[in-house]
Amino acid sequence: MILTSENYYSTDADREYLSVSQYKNFIGSLGRPGCEAYAMAKLNEEWVENMEDSDALMVGSYVDAHFEGTLDVFKAQHPCMFKKDGSLMAKYIKANEMINRCERDELFMAYMSGEKQVIMTADMFGAKWKIKIDSYIKDKCIVDLKTCQSITKTFYHADAGNMNFLHEWGYYLQGAVYQKVVEINTGKKLPFFIAAVSKEKEPDIQVIACEQSLLDEALAEVENNVPKILALKNNDIDPVRCEHCDYCKHTKILKAPIWSSDLIGEV
Ligand SMILES: [Zn+2]
Repeated sequence: MILTSENYYSTDADREYLSVSQYKNFIGSLGRPGCEAYAMAKLNEEWVENMEDSDALMVGSYVDAHFEGTLDVFKAQHPCMFKKDGSLMAKYIKANEMINRCERDELFMAYMSGEKQVIMTADMFGAKWKIKIDSYIKDKCIVDLKTCQSITKTFYHADAGNMNFLHEWGYYLQGAVYQKVVEINTGKKLPFFIAAVSKEKEPDIQVIACEQSLLDEALAEVENNVPKILALKNNDIDPVRCEHCDYCKHTKILKAPIWSSDLIGEV
C-alpha cells in the first residue's frame, strides 16, 4: 500500500503500518495509559472516534491545518466550528490567536518553514512504520507542532515524579520514531524539535530541542514493545482490556457485585 495524504489515516493503512499514535493506543504514555482491547477495536472498526467530540483534537488540527495551508478545506469539512450566524466559535478564535502568536516569532517560523506533512515509511523492529512530519527541513531537522495547555506545566506521577508535557504525552517516543524512520530513508540522523504553542489566555510559544539521550531511551522502549503489538495485530494473542478507557466502559458487562474496598484498589 502506497501512503498518500488521502489514505494516511485510513484503517487499511493502520492495519498495514504501525504509527506513533497507534503505538500509544496499545502501550500508552504517562498521561494516557494504553489499552490493547481499545487499540484492536479501532483497527477492527468496532470502535469509531469522532474528532469533533474532542475540543483539544479539533484545536490542534485547526492549527496544523493552518500551517499546512489547508485551513479552508478543514473549515469546509467541519461546519461544527461555526455558529449559526456563520462566525467562528470562541475556541477557534482562540486557535487563530495562537496561530498569530506563532507567526509573530521569527525563530518559531524558521522551524515551521520546512516541507509540511511529509509522509515516510520504514521497516523498523520487524514492523512497517508510517510517519507524517509537520515540518521537515531536509538534512537539518524534524519539527513537530504541538498545541498544549501550558508549555511549563508539570505532571506528577508517584513513581516517576514531576514530568514535563513531552514525557506526559509520549513526544519523546514520537521524536525517536520519526528520527529513526528519517534516518532509515535518508541515512541522516536529524535532531527533533517540538514547536509548541499553548492555549492559555495569552498563548505561550517555545521551540524545544529533544535531548538525544531521551530519544535513545524512548526508542529502546519502542523496540521492546513492538513484538507484542505485532502479535496482537496478527491475532496471535488476545488483547487485554484496561477497564478504564471509554471503549472498555462502553463494552463492560457486569458479572457480579464488587466489594466497595475494590473501588480504588488499582489505578
Ligand atoms: Zn480499555
